[in-house]
Amino acid sequence: MSRDPRYDILFEPVRIGPVTARNRFYQVPHCNGMGRTYPSSMAEMRGVKAEGGWAVVCTEETEIHHSAEYSPGIEGRLWDDADIPVFARMTEKIHEHGSLAGVELSYASVAASNRYSREIPMAPVDRPVESYDPLQARRMDKEDIRTLRKWYIDAAHRAKTAGFDVVYVYCGHDLSIQMHFLNRLRNTRSDEYGGSLENRVRLFREILEDTKDAVGDTCAVAVRFAVDEMSGEDGLTCEGEGRDVVEMLAEMPDLWDVNVSDWHNDSITSRFSEQGHQEPYISFVKSVTSKPVVGVGRYTSPDAMVSLVKRGVMDFIGAARPSIADPFLPKKIEEGRLDDIRECIGCNICVSGDFLMMPMRCTQNPTMGEEWRKGWHPERIPSRGSEDSILIIGAGPAGLECARALGQRGYAVTLAEERPELGGRVTLESGLPGLSEWARVRDHRELQLNQMPNVDIYLESSMEQANILEFGASHVVLATGASWTRNGIGRENAAPIAGSDRENCFTPDDVIAGRPIVGPVLVFDDDHYYMGGVLCEKLRQDGHEVILVTPAVDVSHWTHNTMEQERIQARLIELGVHIICSHNLVSIDAEQAELACGYTDRRQTRDCGSVVMVTAREPRDTLYTALTQRTDALQEAGIKSVSRVGDCLAPGTIAAAVYEGHRFARELDAPKQNGVPFRRELVRLAGT
Ligand code: ADP
Ligand code: SF4
Repeated sequence: MSRDPRYDILFEPVRIGPVTARNRFYQVPHCNGMGRTYPSSMAEMRGVKAEGGWAVVCTEETEIHHSAEYSPGIEGRLWDDADIPVFARMTEKIHEHGSLAGVELSYASVAASNRYSREIPMAPVDRPVESYDPLQARRMDKEDIRTLRKWYIDAAHRAKTAGFDVVYVYCGHDLSIQMHFLNRLRNTRSDEYGGSLENRVRLFREILEDTKDAVGDTCAVAVRFAVDEMSGEDGLTCEGEGRDVVEMLAEMPDLWDVNVSDWHNDSITSRFSEQGHQEPYISFVKSVTSKPVVGVGRYTSPDAMVSLVKRGVMDFIGAARPSIADPFLPKKIEEGRLDDIRECIGCNICVSGDFLMMPMRCTQNPTMGEEWRKGWHPERIPSRGSEDSILIIGAGPAGLECARALGQRGYAVTLAEERPELGGRVTLESGLPGLSEWARVRDHRELQLNQMPNVDIYLESSMEQANILEFGASHVVLATGASWTRNGIGRENAAPIAGSDRENCFTPDDVIAGRPIVGPVLVFDDDHYYMGGVLCEKLRQDGHEVILVTPAVDVSHWTHNTMEQERIQARLIELGVHIICSHNLVSIDAEQAELACGYTDRRQTRDCGSVVMVTAREPRDTLYTALTQRTDALQEAGIKSVSRVGDCLAPGTIAAAVYEGHRFARELDAPKQNGVPFRRELVRLAGT
C-alpha cells in the first residue's frame, strides 16, 4: 500500500533552528514511569517511537539540579555528568532511525519536595510546597537567580554532550519555576522579577537567552509553554497574559510547543473531552510567531492532522498518548495503512504509571514499557512455533488481543463468543456516559482480525465442555471474563452484607443490562475506579435520585491516578448525586440502607429503593475448572493445554486483560522460564 497523497503534507521536513525534522510528527515530552530508574526501558521505548516514524522524540521532564527533584517520582535527571550516559543511550536509539532527540530541561520550584536530596526548594516567594509535605520553599534572592541561570547553562551543555538536538526550556503545567515567576498570584515579588508582566517574564527570557547562547549553535532551543492555565483571570489566559508572553518572546525560541495547564487539563481523558480540545486555546500562536509551532490534542485522525497544518494551527502534530498507544502511527499513515492505527482511547492508564511510579502501561498497546525488558515490539512478533491450533472462548479485550496476536503469528485461531457482538466488557461499558471511545479497544482488533484468513470468528456461540472437546483444538484459552458480585464482599467487607440477597440489590452488570431499578438508588462503591462514579452518572441520567456511598475519602478514588478524580466528583455534584464518603454499607432492607462511619462506626440510615454493589468481580471460570478436571477427555480430544487469560483468571483493568491476552500469544511456544521473566535494571553498587 502507498500513502494517500492527501497526507503528503504531513511528511514534509520542517526546519527547527539549526536542525531539521524529517516530517511533522512530534512526540512531545511525556512521563513514563521509567526515566532515571529504568533507563534501558526508557531508551528502548523512545527508540521504538523513532522507528515508528516520529521525527522528534523527547524525554520526560528532566531535572537539571538536585535542588529541584521529584523523588520518589520517576523523571529524567541531568544533575551532573554522571547522568549523561543514560540519555546518550536514548539519543543513540533515536538517531538510529533518523529522528531528532529532544530534552525537556526543568526546574520545579514548589512542585518538588526534594525528598531525596533534602535541599530546601526555591520559589519566587516563601510558600509551602505543593505536596502535603510539611515543608516550605524559600524565596530566591538575586544570587539564587544568577546561580539557577548557571545551572540551566550547565544542564544545556550536558544535554548537548548527551546528543540532544532539541533543548527545551520548560514553562508549563504549573510545574516549572518559570511558570511560577509568571503567575501573578505565585509571584508577589517587588523587585525586577515581580510586578509587571515584563518583570515576571524576565527569568523565562533570561534562561531562554542563556540556553540559546550555550547550545543554540547546533541545538534547536524550544520552549514548552502553557498559554492558558485554565484558572481564569488569576492565571495566564490565551486572550490575556498567556498571549502577551508569546508576543513578547515570539522570535526567541526556535520552536513553540504550546498547550494548556495544568497536566489534568492538558491530558484530559476522553470521558471529559474530545480530540482537538486545545485548539481554541493555542490557535493564536502561529499568528504571532514565524517559528514552528507544535500542539497536542490526542490526535489520531490523519485528516484532522492535515487540517491543522493547512489551517495554520500548527506545524507539527504533537502527541504523547497517541504515540504511546501506537508508536507506529506515522509509519502507518505513510504506508497507507490507516486501518492498522491503534487509536488511543483517552483512558489515562498510561498516566497512572507516572503517579504510581511504575513503568508506564497502555490499554491499547500491550507492548508499552516491555520493549526492552521483554523484547516486545509493538509491530513485530515471532512467527508461530508449531502447527498447533488454538480455540479462544470469549471475545472481550483479553480474547480479542489473544486472537489478534496469535493470528499475527500465523496460528490457526478460532474465536468463539456467546454474545451477538465482539468486545465483551468493552462493548458493554462503552455504552456508559463518556466511555464511547473505549470501544476502540474492540474496533482496532476487530479490523485486524477481519483481515486474517487464519482466524475464524463465531458469534452467538456459547461454548460448553462438550463443544470444546468436540472441537479438539491443540490449545484452549478461556477468556470468558468476570461477573460483578452482589453480596458486598470486597475491600471493606470480608463477609456478605446483610440483606444483599434481597431482590432490590443489583450489580453493575444488572444496571448495564438495563434491569429495571427502583429509586432512590444507593450505589455502594468499594471498587474505587470508574465504575461506581459512572453508574451514578447513568442512573442520574435515567432520572433516579442517587446516593453514592464509599469507604474512601472521595469518589472514584483510584482515578486520582488517571487525573480524573476531581472532574468525576465535580460532575456528580453538578448532577445532584448525594455523596457520602468514609462510610461503609452495613445492611439493606426494602426501603432503607444502614451506613457506618469509617472512623467512629456511628450509624445512619438512608431511604433507598435499590442498592447497587460495586464491590468485587468473580471470574467466570467454571468451564476452566470443569475441563481441567477431565485430563483423559482432554487427551482424547488432542487438547494439550487449557489456560485462562484476562478477567477469567483475575479481574482487573481492560489494560491488564489486553496485556494478558497478548502475553499468552507471545509465550505459547516459548520455553518455560524459571525465575524473573524479564530483564531487570539492577542498581550498581557505588564504588564497584
Ligand atoms: P476480558 O476483560 O477478560 O476480556 P470480558 O468479560 O470483557 O473479559 O469478555 C469475556 C467474553 O467472554 C464476553 O464477551 C462473554 O460473552 C464471553 N463468554 C463468556 N463465557 C462464554 C462461553 N462459554 N462461550 C462463549 N463466550 C463466552
Ligand atoms: Fe491512550 Fe489509554 Fe494508552 Fe494512555 S493508556 S495512551 S490514554 S489508550
